[in-house]
Amino acid sequence: MLHVSEDDPDIAQLIRNEESRIENTLDLIAAENHAPLSIMEAMGSVLNTKTIEGYPGKRFHAGCKYVDEIERIAISRAKTLFGAEYANVQPHSGTSANLAVFFSVLEVGDKVLAMSLPHGGHLSHGHQASLTSRCFTFRHYHVDTKTELIDYDNVRRMAEAFRPKMIVAGASSYPRLIDYEKMADIARDISAYLFADAAHIGGLVAGKVIPSPVPYCDFVTLTCYKTMMGGRGGVILCKERYGKKIDKAVFPGCQGTSAVNFIAAKAVIFKLAQEPRFGEIQKRTLANAVCLAKELGTRGYRIVTGGTENHQVIIDVGSKGLRGNDAEKILESVGIITNRNVIPRDAENPGTISGIRLGTAAVSTRGMGTAEMKEIAKLIDGALINANKKKLLDQVAQKGAELCRKFPVYA
Ligand SMILES: *Cc1c(COP(=O)(O)O)cnc(C)c1O
Repeated sequence: MLHVSEDDPDIAQLIRNEESRIENTLDLIAAENHAPLSIMEAMGSVLNTKTIEGYPGKRFHAGCKYVDEIERIAISRAKTLFGAEYANVQPHSGTSANLAVFFSVLEVGDKVLAMSLPHGGHLSHGHQASLTSRCFTFRHYHVDTKTELIDYDNVRRMAEAFRPKMIVAGASSYPRLIDYEKMADIARDISAYLFADAAHIGGLVAGKVIPSPVPYCDFVTLTCYKTMMGGRGGVILCKERYGKKIDKAVFPGCQGTSAVNFIAAKAVIFKLAQEPRFGEIQKRTLANAVCLAKELGTRGYRIVTGGTENHQVIIDVGSKGLRGNDAEKILESVGIITNRNVIPRDAENPGTISGIRLGTAAVSTRGMGTAEMKEIAKLIDGALINANKKKLLDQVAQKGAELCRKFPVYA
C-alpha cells in the first residue's frame, strides 16, 4: 500500500477501511470468499500491464513468452482439477463465460430452457434485464411450490413441449444438489445441449465434496471468487469437440484483451485446489452450512427446501414477520454481512423479497467450524428479534467482533 498511499491517500485510506471491515465482520455472503494472499499478489502484479489478444502461441501482440506459459499452465490445471477435456480461462466474469457458451453453439433467436430467477436462477439465464433475453428465446422452469426442489418432471414436460436447443442447469440461489444425470437424460431425449452453470459451487466440486457436473454436460462454467476461493473471473470447461467454438466465442466474440493477472490467479488457485487444505476447507464449508441451517431451523426460522446440501442456507425471514431487506440491514448493523434474496414463494408477489441468503464459504476459509456456526445462529437470531433494542444489538455486535478477532482473515 506504500505507493497508493503516496499517489492517492484518499483511496489508500478507503482500501485500509475495507480491509478492516473484512477482518471485523462476519462474511456470510454466499457469493464471496477470502482469497489467499498469493492470489492477491498474482492479481496485483506486473501482469496488469500486459495486453494480450488471442491464445497462447497465436497472439496479436509480441512479448508473450511468459504470459503464454502462464495461460497454458492455467488451462492445463483447470482440465486436471475438474477432469475436463477442454478449458478456456479468459472470461472476465461468470456472466462473460455464460455469454460465450450461448454464442458458441446458438444462433440469435434460438430457444433455451433455464431456471426461473425468483426460483433460484441467474440474471444471465435469460432474465428480461439481461442481454441474453434479447438474443435468445428463453423459457424458465420452476421448483416445486411445496418442496422448493427442482421439479424434474416439470423440466421434462417443458423441454418436450418447448424443444430448446440448450438446457441450463445451475443456480444462484438453490441450496440443494442438482441431478445432472437427470438433466442430461432430458437434454439427450430432445437433442439439446446441456450447460451447467456452476458459478457458486465450483470450489465444492473442485474439493470433491459434491458431485461434478463435468461428466454429464457439454459445457460447464464457474467463477473463481465464490466457493472457488481465489481471484475474480470465470472459466469455461467443455468437451474437446466444442473447444474451437468456445475459444472463438470468448475472443473475439464476447471479449477483447483478457486480463493476464486474473489468468495467473486462476492458475494459482487451481494449484492450491489440488492440495489437501483446500478439500478440508470445502468439507468444512459444507458441514458448517448444514449446522447453520439446523440451528436457525431450531430457532423457528423456515429454511427454504428445509435444509442444505451445499454452502448456501436460504432463510424465509417472512416466517418471523420480517422482510429480507430489513433483515439484511439489521444484520449489517451488527457486523453480519448477508444479502436479501427472493425465495420461490415471492414469485407470486413481484417486488416482495422474503428471504436472506447465507453462505458459509468465507467464514469456513477463515477457520470457523460448527461451534462458531452455533454462535453465529444465536447472533443472527439475537439481532433479528431485538431489532429495536439498541443495547441488545450492541451486545450481539460485540460478540460477533470477538469471534472475528479469534479467526483473523489475513494474520
Ligand atoms: C454469481 C453467478 C454468476 C457469475 O456472474 P458474474 O458475472 O461473475 O457476476 C453466474 N451464474 C450464476 C448462477 C451465479 O450465481
